[in-house]
Amino acid sequence: MDKCYICDEPAVGKEHVPPRCLFPKTKDLPNGVNLRSNLMTVPSCAPHNSEKSRDDEYFLNVIAGLECINKVGREHYRRQIRRQNKRNPGILARFAVRAIKIVGNLGHKVEINRLDNFVKHLGYALYRAHFGSRWSGELCWVPEFLSRIADADPNAEQIRLAVVKENNREFKGIPYQGANPTVFSYQVLECKELCKMRLHFYEGCKMLLIFKATSTVQDERDIVLKKSI
Ligand SMILES: [Zn+2]
Repeated sequence: MDKCYICDEPAVGKEHVPPRCLFPKTKDLPNGVNLRSNLMTVPSCAPHNSEKSRDDEYFLNVIAGLECINKVGREHYRRQIRRQNKRNPGILARFAVRAIKIVGNLGHKVEINRLDNFVKHLGYALYRAHFGSRWSGELCWVPEFLSRIADADPNAEQIRLAVVKENNREFKGIPYQGANPTVFSYQVLECKELCKMRLHFYEGCKMLLIFKATSTVQDERDIVLKKSI
C-alpha cells in the first residue's frame, strides 16, 4: 500500500496538488470550460488530507487581491471564495483584523504560519507528484508577491525585486508543467545539490520552492540579494 506523501502512515485517499479549491467549479465557468480536469493527486493519510483546508482557503484570500493574478483568479474569488467566506466568516474576520496601513495603501499583515503550513504541504505533494518519491530533506520557500503585504521590513521590496529578477533569469526557457496553467503551473530546475521549483498561481502570482538535501539551508533571500545588488 502507498504511504502518505508527507508522513509514514498508509495512504487512505488522494490529495489534490495543488488543492482543488484553487480551481473554479465548472458551474462558475462559461459552458464547456472545465478547469478541474487532469488534476494531479498524491496518496495521503486521513489527517494530511483534511487538516489544512482552512489554510488553503486562507492562501486563496491572501492572493485574491493581488494585481498580478489573471482574470480566472479574480473571477474565482468573486464567485466561489466570496460564497465560502459568507458560509465561514471566521477566515474573513481573521483577515480583516490584521488589515493595516502600509505606505498609504490598505495592506494585510499576513499570518505567516498559515502560509507556511500551506506551502509545506503543497511542496511535499508537488515533489511526490513530479518525482514519484517522497521528499525527506528540507524545504524553504520564497514568495515573489509578498513584500507590500508582508511586514514593515524596509528592505522587503528591494529583496522581492531582486528575487524576481534572479528567478526570471534562472527559469528562462524552462518548460511550464500543469494541465490547467491559467490556474496553476510550475517549472523544475535541478541543480547540483538542490532542486528548485517555481510555482505560478493564476499566471502572475509566483513562488519559489527550494528542496535541499543537507541540513545547512542558507537564507536564499540573502544570497539572491548579495548577487543582485
Ligand atoms: Zn500523512
